[in-house]
Amino acid sequence: MAKKRGSTKLTKRERAEAFFGDGAWRIRGFKRLGLPPIRLSDGPCGLRVSVDEPSLINGINGNLIPATCYPAPALMACSFDEELLEEVGREMGKECRAHEIDALLAPTCNIKRNPLCGRNFEYYSEDPLVTGKMAAAFVRGIQSEGVGACIKHFAANSQESYRMVNNSVVDERALREIYLKPFEIAVKESDPWMVMGSYNRINGVYACDNKRLLDGVLRKEWGFKGVVISDWGATSNYIYSHNNGLDIEMPGMVNRKKDLFWAISNGSISRENHEASGLRIQRLLERNLKAKSKPAEPFSALNAHELAVKSVVKSAVLLKNEGVLPLRSFNKTCIIGRFADEPVICGGGSSKVNPAHPVSFLEAARARKPDVPYCPGYDFIDDRKNPFLMEATDLASKSDKVILFLGLNPGVESEGFDREDMQLPVEQRRLFDEIYAVNPNIIVVLNVGSPVELPFLDKAAAILLAYLPGQGGGEGIAKLLLNEVCPSGRLAETWPIHLLNVPSFGYYPGPETQSLYRESIYVGYRYYVSVKKKDTSSIRPMVAFPFGFGLSYARISYSDFSLSKAEISKDEKITVKVDVSNRSKFPADHLVEIYINPDPGKVFRPDRYLAAFRKIHLEPESKQTVIIELNYLDFAHYDLAKKRLAVESGGYAIELGNSAMDIVSSKRIKVNSEDTFPSMQYTLPVYYTPGSDGFLSYDSNFEALLGHEVVIEKDPHSPPYDVHSTIEDISETWIGKILIKKAEERIGSLEAADKLLVRNFYELPLRCLCMDGIKPKTIAAIVHFANGKFIRGALTIAFGSGRPKRQHKKKRRHEETAEAGA
Ligand code: BGC
Repeated sequence: MAKKRGSTKLTKRERAEAFFGDGAWRIRGFKRLGLPPIRLSDGPCGLRVSVDEPSLINGINGNLIPATCYPAPALMACSFDEELLEEVGREMGKECRAHEIDALLAPTCNIKRNPLCGRNFEYYSEDPLVTGKMAAAFVRGIQSEGVGACIKHFAANSQESYRMVNNSVVDERALREIYLKPFEIAVKESDPWMVMGSYNRINGVYACDNKRLLDGVLRKEWGFKGVVISDWGATSNYIYSHNNGLDIEMPGMVNRKKDLFWAISNGSISRENHEASGLRIQRLLERNLKAKSKPAEPFSALNAHELAVKSVVKSAVLLKNEGVLPLRSFNKTCIIGRFADEPVICGGGSSKVNPAHPVSFLEAARARKPDVPYCPGYDFIDDRKNPFLMEATDLASKSDKVILFLGLNPGVESEGFDREDMQLPVEQRRLFDEIYAVNPNIIVVLNVGSPVELPFLDKAAAILLAYLPGQGGGEGIAKLLLNEVCPSGRLAETWPIHLLNVPSFGYYPGPETQSLYRESIYVGYRYYVSVKKKDTSSIRPMVAFPFGFGLSYARISYSDFSLSKAEISKDEKITVKVDVSNRSKFPADHLVEIYINPDPGKVFRPDRYLAAFRKIHLEPESKQTVIIELNYLDFAHYDLAKKRLAVESGGYAIELGNSAMDIVSSKRIKVNSEDTFPSMQYTLPVYYTPGSDGFLSYDSNFEALLGHEVVIEKDPHSPPYDVHSTIEDISETWIGKILIKKAEERIGSLEAADKLLVRNFYELPLRCLCMDGIKPKTIAAIVHFANGKFIRGALTIAFGSGRPKRQHKKKRRHEETAEAGA
């Protein structure tokens, strides 16, 4: 690096350069200051180093180098094992350094709000504590190797449909207690280098322009010292964004140097903002330089693969076992189902990894018993007669046991779109029934990224949930079926029986304009456990498997569950103690789950929420005392009037659970607080006693909770259009038709194309066309053309600058339709 000269801080001109990425995968460095650039890679399941720049033609992936593919976060979270997450983070850190990647765009801290979310496999849990703890552990791991982490996507980004324009309408309590909480935990417990602002709007304001969240909550309240980068194309207007807390716009596909320098010089971006942001970026570059001064630990692909296998065995969840498992061997057992041979090891989109060493279950099983019979059982095409049905039933009838792999077809689960239903393919459901008719000893292995309905739940002899297990899936599943390792995974999300049982059923995903978070804090198990209050008969049939549930082969028992005291006041702690025994002849991991169950009070709360958890390892026939501390604030909720966490006095139960719906021991405690609260029971009855009919028909309750009416946004498909209009919105205009034709000339028929590519294209806001090389002023002209203003469009092309307008305080988002090719 060159020697330092002049100012020791980034100059105005340098700041203008620092505020946008250097291409798709790099944060600019500054030779003058001896600060090298930061090279980035996705993502949460392993490295996704693309040798091409992303574009409409390359799709989201391009050509990827081979890398270790770990289980998707949906599975990793089922380990509830912070040490494991840290270890995976460390190993990924070593792999990053081996490929000269300086920072990883992971982990994801978003909450699973509905099983249909296309990206659920990338998210840890429906519970904020689990999500935050898993993310923090992963960040600590990776950053200990000198590689930065970027937690994403901040915030309330829980649907893929229309994610680049959609508005998440969410009340402050749900925002604080559910959606922001995991980010808060990760920021406070792991000090990530970066936070990625999400695509969506939150209560009307784009995440990357959201001063309240970026400057207020993230920086001032939580003390975040790192850098905020945008998701790829999430900057709605770079002047707004740089004035409201965003540091770096990603990707840097347009050279904004001149425009940013202009905006800095003329005050469009305030001095206070660009100076503070410049300092933050400089600190990040210095942090990277310092981290790289530590020599890289050697990376071994073999060790990484073994860790990928270990991650599966510590995470996969045994959902059902009628005594058929564990298997002694694969003798007299057959394997049916294409996923055994061709597993879906990771989901689609930016977390897709090109696995370095994928091992299928069939390979793992045949390494143990070379002649174990196999039949694919079905095709991945679901619209023709199944050619394998006879062969499969024939094989099943000749075997003692059938290991049947079922799952969602490749391409069904991906970033960029949501699933339409919770069904497994019809051919697979039929196959189960046909096999069951000849052999009921069916061990189902599920290869899905998110819950599916299980019509065979009562019939299956055993069910092992492998989610999207990464490259170690085949080996890990074999080990678990044979009890080479005892299963210990627990569900980090509820598996509802039917989609209609889900709290956000009927309004998820929200339409293009906005997604109403009517269920508020009742996400996942918080809803299912609370419904019980009103309608006991409906609780069981709603849930196939509850949050926190998972079986083991080991016989584990609890004794001496106790609390250190019977009362707790401000700033105090309480110690929960329990003895856990393994009465089996083999070692086993075990999860201790501690819940808090508040008595009904003035403030509405879920009937039960997870307060702490601890994963332990037990040797055969051994006993361990587990001690867990709870803090006073573990009893708190977010109080709107006081604008802080507050605790309601009263009785609470501290519960030891095998799941959120199976409490084995409970102790009462009195909580003392000076805070008082008014009851909102008469304005928000549905939130005090949620019913099994969900929240769809309770508009007035939701509006009272929000504190205002829900604003109906303009129909986006009709004019006037603006830079936030999508290609789908303008598809009926002549300019829209030209854009579609041009895209088809490059990528072929959109009807035949990959769904991710098609949805990415149609849902692309016009402002993002600049990522595909279209000049900002051309984008501004396209908007005019779509609005039927041909002459203005032509003049803009001839004389326009394409610069966005300055931010006027009174203007609301979506009102700036002028030249704004953000
Ligand atoms: C995703 C991010 C990802 C980025 C870069 C976006 O589409 O939402 O999670 O890090 O692309 O690939």
